[in-house]
Amino acid sequence: MIDGFGRRIEYLRVSVTDKCNLRCVYCMPEQGLEWLRKDELLSYEEIVRIIATMAPLGLRRVRITGGEPLVRRDLPDLARMITAVPGIDDLSLSTNAVLLDEHADALRAAGVRRVNISLDSLRPDRIDAISRRPGSAPRIMAGLDAAERVGFDPIKVNVVLMRGSNDDEIADFAELTRERPWHVRFIELMPTGSNLDLSRDAFISCTEALGRLRAIGEIEPAAGPGGNGPATYYRFPGAPGTVGVITPMSHNYCERCNRMRLTASGQLRPCLFGHIETNLRDPLRRGEDLVPLIAETLRIKPERHWLVQGSDVGSGGLVALSQTGG
Ligand code: SAM
Ligand code: SF4
Repeated sequence: MIDGFGRRIEYLRVSVTDKCNLRCVYCMPEQGLEWLRKDELLSYEEIVRIIATMAPLGLRRVRITGGEPLVRRDLPDLARMITAVPGIDDLSLSTNAVLLDEHADALRAAGVRRVNISLDSLRPDRIDAISRRPGSAPRIMAGLDAAERVGFDPIKVNVVLMRGSNDDEIADFAELTRERPWHVRFIELMPTGSNLDLSRDAFISCTEALGRLRAIGEIEPAAGPGGNGPATYYRFPGAPGTVGVITPMSHNYCERCNRMRLTASGQLRPCLFGHIETNLRDPLRRGEDLVPLIAETLRIKPERHWLVQGSDVGSGGLVALSQTGG
């Protein structure tokens, strides 16, 4: 699959639910989001039919995301169905890890090879405050332990940086990579309809984060854990893990984009942001051929996003990243 700007698209992020067991301050409003009805959600069979339609076109890698994917029942069944699709050679999961301890073994056995875990602080009280779900920290830590135990590799830890909330933990997160083979990635806060004040007031660029890292020790550019993702990686000499930065706001990396997104309601989105999405669910349910719809969505994939810090003009009406899978 080659888009209108010559980018090779081989990666699909599949959101399996818009619901979540956390309410991270930068992602979802505390309340007020309307959930999809059950009949609006793609079934696992429908998700797999879309993936199986895209695989012969060049889809190779799939990531399951959400909302929180582990709140959807029997997720390992979906993982097993996806890895059985000919041509799909990589399946990964993005999770907040609250439920990972219970499901890690089954997910690994079903073919999930690697995980991205959201962890915005190493301090339980701050995890409570950022996630707005007190008491989740011990379960998240158990989820991280489980990820190591079952052998997900690589383990990436995603940290959304917020001034005044967790930016004083940049060094602590980076120090973790000297001890563990984790890939800690600092992510710049992106504006959506529900976080405009926060994204204006608490934004901190990864350039600043890297400056603070250099102050604690020498870091060198590193290859990173594979995949053609948006992160740029560094390493403390001899460290088993890496530190990455994901800079959607300060350094746009859209020219390297290799992905499309499928929302939980079956909309194919060529870009995380913006208004363009193609309804695949209803044509699929009517038994229509999806290939022309996929080809047209690919053709009109935008060259880049047009996000503006503190404004929702570029987010295309998106209220929360949980709605599209982040
Ligand atoms: N619930 C799962 C999780 O938290 O990993 C998967 C879905 S979540 C929407 C996917 C990623 O998007 C997470 O790493 C999260 O930190 C990130 N994210 C959500 N809202 C964001 C925002 N406004 N700016 C930057 N990253 C954001
Ligand atoms: Fe839920 Fe993930 Fe959004 Fe946090 S970032 S509210 S865990 S979907």
